[in-house]
Amino acid sequence: MLLTYRALVLFDIDGTLVRRAGPHHREALVHAVRRVTGLETTTDDIPVHGMLDPDIVAIMMHRAGASRSRIGDAMPEIVRAAERHYQRVCPALHDKHCPGVAPLLERLTRRNILLGLVTGNLTRIGWRKLERAGLRDYFRFGAFGEMAKTRAGLAKIAIREARAHGWITRGTPVSLVGDAPADILAARRNHIRAISVATGLTTTDELLAERPDILLPDLRLLRLKMVEG
Ligand SMILES: [Mg+2]
Repeated sequence: MLLTYRALVLFDIDGTLVRRAGPHHREALVHAVRRVTGLETTTDDIPVHGMLDPDIVAIMMHRAGASRSRIGDAMPEIVRAAERHYQRVCPALHDKHCPGVAPLLERLTRRNILLGLVTGNLTRIGWRKLERAGLRDYFRFGAFGEMAKTRAGLAKIAIREARAHGWITRGTPVSLVGDAPADILAARRNHIRAISVATGLTTTDELLAERPDILLPDLRLLRLKMVEG
């Protein structure tokens, strides 16, 4: 018999689980572009909030004059170089949790709720960040920046994977928790619950404008019934 979970909760990382994680992530992207292509780029003036890492890299390179085909050709190697670099430079992030994160993840896990990631971070960057924050073991699986073209596509991959493993059924409640309008959009596209937290850069008013199902000042206020019902 397959063990199914009571609910699935998908989490964004930046601004949702951890914040103020330092410049290391951005620096890894800049470093990787330089290393692979020789181009000098910057993430300055790019609204990286809620974006997928490969899209950020594409804009950085475009602004430095790279053609679309050059960007596409170099991307796989840039992804690997950025992930490698981040492994080395990622600092300890135990004190960078958003409010209430660790107790909430603990509570959800004890309640037999499956936790997954839906993040624009590249795979090994996302896992490393959670590892350094001491949160990795709460998450069984995830969908990451290089796996789809949009955040909605990532959420779809995560839901499919949970179903394919028999962890959830068609009737299992699924929520997506995030701090950006892009997270709300991704939830809506997949017909799952959008839970917004105002712990990132987006203001409460901007989040409200996208009409999430639930809007919380921070994760200390998340109740089990919000994700189980
Ligand atoms: Mg975020």
